[in-house]
Amino acid sequence: MNIAQVFKTMSYGPAPESTEKVEQWLNQHKDGFSLFINGEWVSAAEPQWFDSYNPATGQLLAKISQSGQADIDAAVNAARQAQPEWVKLGAHARARCLYALARLIQKHSRLFAVLESMDNGKPIRETRDIDIPLAVRHFYHHAGWAQLLESEFADYQALGVIGQIIPWNFPLLMTAWKIAPALAAGNCVVLKPAEFTSLTALMFAQLCQQAGLPAGVVNIVTGDGEVGALLAAHPGVDKLAFTGSTEVGRQIKQQTAGTGKKLTLELGGKSPFIVFDDADLDSAVEGVVDAIWFNQGQVCCAGSRLLVQEGIAEVVLTKIKARMQTLRVGDPLDKSTDIGAIVDPSQRERIDQLVKQGVDEGATIWQVDNACPDDGCYYPPTLLCDVESTNVVAIEEIFGPVLTVMTFRTQQEAVALANNTRYGLAASIWSENINRALDIAPQIKAGVVWINSTNQLDAACGFGGYRESGVGREGGREGMFEYIKPISAHSTEKEEQSSLAAEQALDIAHASVEHQPFIDQTAKLFIGGKQVRADGGNSLAVLSASGAFQGLVSAGSGKDIRNAVEAAFKASAWERTTAHARAQILYFLAENLGYRRDELTQRIQSLTQVSKTQALREVEAAIERLFYYAAWADKYDGCVHQPPLHGVTLAMNEAIGVMAVGCPDQAPLLAMISLLAPIIAMGNRAVVVPSSRYPLLATDFYQVLETSDVPPGVVNIVTGDRDALMKVLADHYQVDGLWYFGSEQGSRTVEHASAGNLKRTWVNHGWITDWYCTQQGQGKHFLREATQVKNIWIPYGDSV
Ligand code: NAP
Ligand code: MG
Repeated sequence: MNIAQVFKTMSYGPAPESTEKVEQWLNQHKDGFSLFINGEWVSAAEPQWFDSYNPATGQLLAKISQSGQADIDAAVNAARQAQPEWVKLGAHARARCLYALARLIQKHSRLFAVLESMDNGKPIRETRDIDIPLAVRHFYHHAGWAQLLESEFADYQALGVIGQIIPWNFPLLMTAWKIAPALAAGNCVVLKPAEFTSLTALMFAQLCQQAGLPAGVVNIVTGDGEVGALLAAHPGVDKLAFTGSTEVGRQIKQQTAGTGKKLTLELGGKSPFIVFDDADLDSAVEGVVDAIWFNQGQVCCAGSRLLVQEGIAEVVLTKIKARMQTLRVGDPLDKSTDIGAIVDPSQRERIDQLVKQGVDEGATIWQVDNACPDDGCYYPPTLLCDVESTNVVAIEEIFGPVLTVMTFRTQQEAVALANNTRYGLAASIWSENINRALDIAPQIKAGVVWINSTNQLDAACGFGGYRESGVGREGGREGMFEYIKPISAHSTEKEEQSSLAAEQALDIAHASVEHQPFIDQTAKLFIGGKQVRADGGNSLAVLSASGAFQGLVSAGSGKDIRNAVEAAFKASAWERTTAHARAQILYFLAENLGYRRDELTQRIQSLTQVSKTQALREVEAAIERLFYYAAWADKYDGCVHQPPLHGVTLAMNEAIGVMAVGCPDQAPLLAMISLLAPIIAMGNRAVVVPSSRYPLLATDFYQVLETSDVPPGVVNIVTGDRDALMKVLADHYQVDGLWYFGSEQGSRTVEHASAGNLKRTWVNHGWITDWYCTQQGQGKHFLREATQVKNIWIPYGDSV
């Protein structure tokens, strides 16, 4: 090529990165990598190996140990043993360890970048400039949280041993996201990397030794999905932090149901990338490149659905196609490569299958001719137009360099299309009209929203999904809460019996008994702001603690629950009412409860057979609790994060949506109020199932609701067999979150059933709460469980 031709094509020459140091390191381990347990390299109890390849070349990189049950036991035990000492070491000593890890990764950053690129197939430009620096930043940031733990999270403690399972798309970065916050909070970890990409986690284990981390604080066990399943099932694990597919996330949710293990799930996505006609189109096109061709599109938060306003669709697509011609697909170790290899042939096959199916279902495919090298595991950047919303490629996560395109006319339609997915991880909004962008951001059901930007990630900002994209956040203050628990969350007693007593079902037998103070009425259900008759026509006797007949309530059925959910679903305007207005309504509820003080005291007395003083105390405590959450309604603010960006990230506390609430028998009025008040204070709508034994307090509360300006559908109450009704709610796909305070068995059942749509659950595992205690019965942890954090990234400036 002569100089004139070079000027014409402006083509880069090859700029390969050296693999020499990595080869040396791999050579040192040519007999195979063992497991990192209790600060040492140990062989698997029953030695078995699997191979790890470079997907760009097919070269065998290493032999890696497959762990078995005995190895998982050893790793969990090591972590268990180490954890109390790790806590005792103190915040500052832990901060130093995390700082040392940050420094050590930084010192070996090129080695990590090359190894990651070889193992995963992603371009060196990305590992060097994104994966590794972000992993380093994560350790720095969390060295800070370790230092500040005792002052910033004073009422909390570490969880213990954390099992962590990560995918192959950001191997070292995910290792950092998992390990840094867990250690900062005083936990010890057992981490399982993905089978395709274990090498950087193993290199990291070597740094743990160098950083002087006490033995057992970090353990790395390699192997396939079965090893993940063994770790998830291990009784010595207090919490599981999983990143991966929604399918496996759902299995883990079922597997851990009722065990008391805390769970965070960072799952898949199908994130919208919305371009309005007033966007800076050239920036938006560069955004598309980052959204879907970064890491070959193997990104959980990839902007894989382009939604473009109709009037500009043609010009945007022309620009995207022109840009696609300039993307360089090829050798990941070449510094001028834009798109590297797909992690494994099986994954490429999956992408190909989905694309072919999408085309069969009517999509039009556009690819650059001869985009990929002849050898190696590559897939060309791909555009799919004419995509109907029912097409498989509009619904399923492809996890490859494939962009689907749809158009919209109005802002309203854009929001509807954006939310037309069961996922809710991220969204990008492109418009030069900041009013429009900020108006839409809260309307999109996603944990992260990027305005005029995309795929921005930082240790200071929470990351995580809504809906089937998972539960929990990683990063920032919100991420720290996932690794700690309140010091005093419940009493040490367990609920022994089921809420529904066998005698209650025989309502006829009881109804004829003498002494029936409320026999003239069967309390109805409260749905959509009205008292309504139960669908099934069955009643339930309510007995006092000593067995005396007190009255009848309706026995709600599955149909009643569905009606209640429907009413709650329709009352979505509550989410948008001002916090001030919600506070006013809670105060009003307190006031109206106060007017009924005598009546309620008497009711509590006759039902639960406590003294008058005690019954009055319960009513007063319920009034105070309403004041407490009225006070918080307009004060549970989000915060402004400061990532390294010319701009800000707003961490907003948003309502979860429709919440199901199962109430305990103890302190039946106070408990119900303690659960309901934070839920509605934060803008959720509730379907409440009161204690089956003492539901008359809930039915007395109808009149309070009716006189307190609570909009119809915001609070719905269905009486009956609590555990059976809660199971129906757990199965229901329109319910977004579920709180259950009842028995151990009931907790297990609702957690298991909630895996269907991965609704957020908070259950008591049978542990009794002291509702009078202000540490147990109220607090910010209730508000945290009633909200989900959305991070909205807002870059500033006209010239950046
Ligand atoms: P995956 O199949 O769910 O695997 C994730 C991890 O779980 C791997 O370590 C895997 O081991 C292990 N695993 C597999 N089956 C298991 C089981 N039954 N029990 C316990 N662990 C099990 O996901 P993937 O296909 O590797 O990763 C891609 C997915 O991850 C995508 O859906 C993507 O959206 C998601 N992701 C989400 C985020 C986020 O933050 N939300 C970030 C990155 C990726 P093996 O590798 O050995 O099979
Ligand atoms: Mg590999």
